[in-house]
Amino acid sequence: MACQREDELQELVDEARKIAYEGKVANYIPALQKQNPEVLSCAITYPNGKCVSAGDINQSFSLQSISKIITLAIVLMDYGVDHVFHKVGMEPTGDPFNSIVKLETSSQAKPLNPMINAGALAVTSMIKGKNAEEKVEYILKFVRKLCNDPDITYCNDVAISEFTTSFLNRSLCYYMKGGGVIHGNVEEIMEVYTKHCAISMNSLHLANVGAVFAMNGVNPVTGERVMPKEVARICKTFMVTCGMYNASGEFAIKIGIPAKSGVSGGIMCSVPGRFGIGIFGPPLNDIGNSHTGMKLLELLQEKYDLSMF
Ligand code: GLU
Repeated sequence: MACQREDELQELVDEARKIAYEGKVANYIPALQKQNPEVLSCAITYPNGKCVSAGDINQSFSLQSISKIITLAIVLMDYGVDHVFHKVGMEPTGDPFNSIVKLETSSQAKPLNPMINAGALAVTSMIKGKNAEEKVEYILKFVRKLCNDPDITYCNDVAISEFTTSFLNRSLCYYMKGGGVIHGNVEEIMEVYTKHCAISMNSLHLANVGAVFAMNGVNPVTGERVMPKEVARICKTFMVTCGMYNASGEFAIKIGIPAKSGVSGGIMCSVPGRFGIGIFGPPLNDIGNSHTGMKLLELLQEKYDLSMF
């Protein structure tokens, strides 16, 4: 069992917050640079639906790359494993999340995995719907079920801020379109992608999403199965091999649990059969993972032995 007491968790949050100014809030998406580096929150949701939380728990943040796990789950459910992995690979990469280099050296511009931007954009291009609005609504409907909150939506400022500045992601799309990996209108793919990256929630919501994956696809609060076990298993495996950017190996050794982070400073963890964790701490380390969030996970690991290995 991990932490059961809010006062104990609060102590760890306060300890981790001390290093807030050693990290740097992301600024390549202009809207993200407004985030307060001192904010830190953590929630842990257990299989019985009980939640323990501490810190600035009401602060919302955009999911950014954490949404890649959710869109992957959606396309796996809609198209099946063979179709999805025909377009996107399963191998981790030592390159940065937005790198274009492997698209040229791998066969037919096929992205290495769905956690790097190229792979996530290819996944986004598969989302069902007549237009961008329908596709975004389709994703939101699923996210609301994962969070038990019908009001979940995206932050328009963050979405527009990324959409108007995201030239590198557009080049990844065009490169893959040239290689026949993606079809369709690049501006529409970019609109859907930036909006799902901008989906906004707090750590309580994120811990529940993490718990659904931890519980093999069953929502711990409602008891409803929201995805097949196989889909949850594949998503958790990607979280281990590629979830923490090019520090995924180090993370597996030091913390040892499936996790996915995003440049806004969110980290979602799914400890199989045990619990989901949602963390938000905006300052990032050199690799792009939340600096305070990583510290907090190290403290949790020391105290509660999180590692599944
Ligand atoms: N929307 C961000 C981008 O594509 C997500 C990156 C991330 O969180 O890693 O740059």
